[in-house]
Amino acid sequence: MGEWGTSMRFLVTGGAGFLGAALANRLVAEGHAVRVLDDLSSGDRSRLDQRVAFTAGDIRDVPKLWSLLHGVDFVYHLAARVSVPESVLYPVEYNAINVGGTVSLLTAMRDAQIKRLVFASSGAVYGEQPSQPLTEELMPHPATPYAVSKRASELYVQAIGQLWGIETVILRIFNAYGPGQPLPPSHPPVVPHYLRQALTGASVVIHGDGRQTRDFVFISDVADALVAAAQAVGVDREILNIGSGVETSVGGLADTIAKVLGKELHRLGNGDAAAGVSRMVADVGRAHELLGYKPRVSLPEGLREILNSDARFARR
Ligand code: NAD
Repeated sequence: MGEWGTSMRFLVTGGAGFLGAALANRLVAEGHAVRVLDDLSSGDRSRLDQRVAFTAGDIRDVPKLWSLLHGVDFVYHLAARVSVPESVLYPVEYNAINVGGTVSLLTAMRDAQIKRLVFASSGAVYGEQPSQPLTEELMPHPATPYAVSKRASELYVQAIGQLWGIETVILRIFNAYGPGQPLPPSHPPVVPHYLRQALTGASVVIHGDGRQTRDFVFISDVADALVAAAQAVGVDREILNIGSGVETSVGGLADTIAKVLGKELHRLGNGDAAAGVSRMVADVGRAHELLGYKPRVSLPEGLREILNSDARFARR
């Protein structure tokens, strides 16, 4: 168990989600056997390839995890509540699911003697930092319950992994975007939200002064990194940034959308002082060195891909 082969067996928690489904579908397409555990709180089963074995359930259900882990070689842990603003409203729930779920999974992995885990953490753990790009050695300053839940989970993954001999790779994923990204009515992610506003002719609402920066990374680049992280036997107890390595202001995102759509956008500032951290861009050098990770899709290319393949953004 633990060596990479042509047909491996995976469990992907949160595998009906935006990133999890892309990963699960990629793995089955490569000939691997994939099980998914997801409670469908934000996931959508119809995203999954028919060949993926789906089980509905909660990440904290240890007996269910035991049965799903039977015969599995590698585990990807993506199940989580993922909204930063929602986490501010419901910190107890975010802690219970994100942190409690991670500890439950680690316990079940110990019992089932699974050797390797890839955990989807977040660039949000860095919080406000004095310098950019962000490197993995920086002391994290998580500033929201979501970010704290991801940092606490990282610490559990590292500590329990070491205690019980589980190999671990933690990926700090930055702002992922791509076709199929959920667009919930409250607090939608910025890329599909701006695209929808731009396409419907509504004003694009810029939080804060629009100069705050983010690192937008296309879903296929994240999926490449996730696959490489399980495959990279010998890479153990590592934390690696997964971003595009390009710093884009939120106002700059609106400019790029305008360019890709070939139309002027009407902008509205909402004067939101709580627009999040001021700057975020990943240094992806370590992921490149250890995983061969190389982000391939630029922001304009990624936006065009969404417009071409996501029916919600079909241009009339
Ligand atoms: P998502 O909401 O689409 O996926 C999360 C999945 O977990 C959903 O399918 C949801 O139904 C499932 N889930 C939630 N609570 C569960 C529970 N109690 N038991 C079982 N399943 C549960 O979000 P995503 O963007 O695909 O994120 C996947 C992972 O990657 C998350 O852990 C997230 O924190 C992390 N991440 C995402 C991004 C990003 O930009 N999308 C950035 C950094 C980290």
